[in-house]
Amino acid sequence: MATASPGPARRPTPTGTPGSNTVGYNPMRWRRFWLLIFGLLVLNIVISSIIQSASTPASVTIPYNLFLDEINAGNVINITATGDSITGTTRKAVSPGSGQPSAKNFLTQRPSFASDNLETTLIKNKVSILAENPNPPTPLWETLLLWFGPTLLIVFGFIYLMRRSAAALGGGGSGGLLGRFGQSGARLYNAERPDTTFADVAGIDEVKAELVEIVDFLKKPEKYQRLGGTIPKGVLLIGAPGTGKTLLARAVAGEAGVPFFSISASEFIEAIVGVGAARVRDLFQKARAAAPAIVFIDELDAIGRSRSTGARLGGNEEQEQTLNQILTEMDGFDTHTGVIVLAATNRADVLDAALLRPGRFDRRVTVPFPDRRGRLEILRIHTRHIPLGPDVDLDLIASLSAGMVGADLRNLANEAALAAARRDATTVSQADFSDALEKVELGSERKLSLTVLDREKIAYHESGHALLGLLQPGADPVRRVSIIPRGQSLGVTVQSPVDDRFSYGEDYLRGRITGALGGRAAEELVYGVVTTGAESDLRQVTVIARQMVVKWGMSPKVGVLSLDDEGQGQSLSLTRPYSEETAALIDEEVRRICEECLRQAVALLTSNRDKLDALVHALLEHDTLGETEILAVTGIAAPAPAPAIPQPR
Ligand code: ADP
Ligand code: ZN
Ligand code: MG
Repeated sequence: MATASPGPARRPTPTGTPGSNTVGYNPMRWRRFWLLIFGLLVLNIVISSIIQSASTPASVTIPYNLFLDEINAGNVINITATGDSITGTTRKAVSPGSGQPSAKNFLTQRPSFASDNLETTLIKNKVSILAENPNPPTPLWETLLLWFGPTLLIVFGFIYLMRRSAAALGGGGSGGLLGRFGQSGARLYNAERPDTTFADVAGIDEVKAELVEIVDFLKKPEKYQRLGGTIPKGVLLIGAPGTGKTLLARAVAGEAGVPFFSISASEFIEAIVGVGAARVRDLFQKARAAAPAIVFIDELDAIGRSRSTGARLGGNEEQEQTLNQILTEMDGFDTHTGVIVLAATNRADVLDAALLRPGRFDRRVTVPFPDRRGRLEILRIHTRHIPLGPDVDLDLIASLSAGMVGADLRNLANEAALAAARRDATTVSQADFSDALEKVELGSERKLSLTVLDREKIAYHESGHALLGLLQPGADPVRRVSIIPRGQSLGVTVQSPVDDRFSYGEDYLRGRITGALGGRAAEELVYGVVTTGAESDLRQVTVIARQMVVKWGMSPKVGVLSLDDEGQGQSLSLTRPYSEETAALIDEEVRRICEECLRQAVALLTSNRDKLDALVHALLEHDTLGETEILAVTGIAAPAPAPAIPQPR
């Protein structure tokens, strides 16, 4: 039972870069290699058995006494004995029994206890006798294979690796099996010409404005070179996953109409030492030849982590070499070269200082979370090709999706379209978007068989949250209450601000705590017992209350101090920047705030029991209630209408 929090909470974002090419260590190629070896082996076995069966004529296995009878009948021409097994040929075909195949070649096994005078019998019947060594020496070719096979394999494997890195260097042998393996690496470096433009990027106008200059430079390099101005060689895009960094880089190339060479730094981590640096060299060489061009290095933090932190375990050598190669390449060209390096990272704070020195990634652009207006524009882009029903209110969806980034919104639009397709509709409705929102935030619906009592408890819990959201002045509007289990939660109350909030008042925060405790308060009030359902509520409550005390100076006893130790989080040290007494005081204040809020919650619910019960009944009947239904059921007046969002230019 979760309350959707309005802050920019991060959720897993599916990011994808359609059509981007990838370069690097490719396990598929290795698989192909081993598959080929395996295939050759099988072929070998098949062929040799065919040859064998062709050279040895068909023969039958006969009992030993039949063999003796045939000798005595004068039918056997010759035999070959290898130990006690005997093969031979006959004049007339023999068969082990009637109805069984017959042949002029036979095979039989002489029992070790046989005391027949076989030799005399054979001589008497004029059968020619051949004998073979029962332990013949291994044929030469087998010996050779045993001795040299493994070595050969290793040598071939080595040659293959060499070819591969040679390909990465830009060469790549031709002809021959191994040559072809290695080559596939080289072709992947070819440039793309993205057709992405700035029109595909929305909601982050400040960032676009920063990049317009780069586009202009790439289009008319002479203009800038004539005046001797310097254009940055490297631009670092910093932002959370899914905020559109890759998209922006492609849009810059698309707008300028220049080739786009991209590479993801994370691919070097698993590569063989030396290959990463070689690839970087190759990439830059190709880019220079194609100038003006853009080189895009994605996930730069994967290799660009500060060398001073001990955080890099294993694979250091390769990362270091690759990083150094990038730095060397960037130092090696000037603005006349016409190559601009764009890089993306979601953590600028961990980057090696060498990368941020002037002449390298000296321009840094932060790609922010989109605000409500930005989300609206991004939604417009991603619903361009979706037939929207008349009831769809993108403004509302934008304000319900606080904290989501571009990739989330694209995913949201896609989920809504899928939901509409599932119900065979021709247009996507607002309800599809609501479903999609819940699915994206909380996961898919789960089919749980809940008892009547459990369902009622969940309904009380969620109604507690919702009612407190309605009763407290200044609280975020309650958008939706649902008791359909999804993902980890059994029910949900969605509250979201009318507009993004950037600062919070103490009353608002206390309201949030009270609302979050509403679920537990309702359970206590109605059943006198509490369930585990309030777990995430309590976690949220503690976080807010603690921040009020240590960060925002909202406790008179602790005073206006910032005792927040989050900033030092990375240092791993367990020392706190305050004394034991202060720590105890903080705990006491956090507890006081939470307890006051819980009392407030119980008091409000007690005096509004009728509204609580009404909400529960409606929920049990309909499973999900929207904003207007909630207001109708409880008879609470709607809050002031949301201010209209200005239309984008
Ligand atoms: P990042 O590289 O920052 O992780 P991506 O550029 O890969 O994010 O974004 C993934 C997808 O999300 C993009 O292909 C695009 O469809 C969508 N997207 C992200 N940000 C935006 C935006 N500002 N405007 C429009 N679409 C966006
Ligand atoms: Zn809850
Ligand atoms: Mg990306």
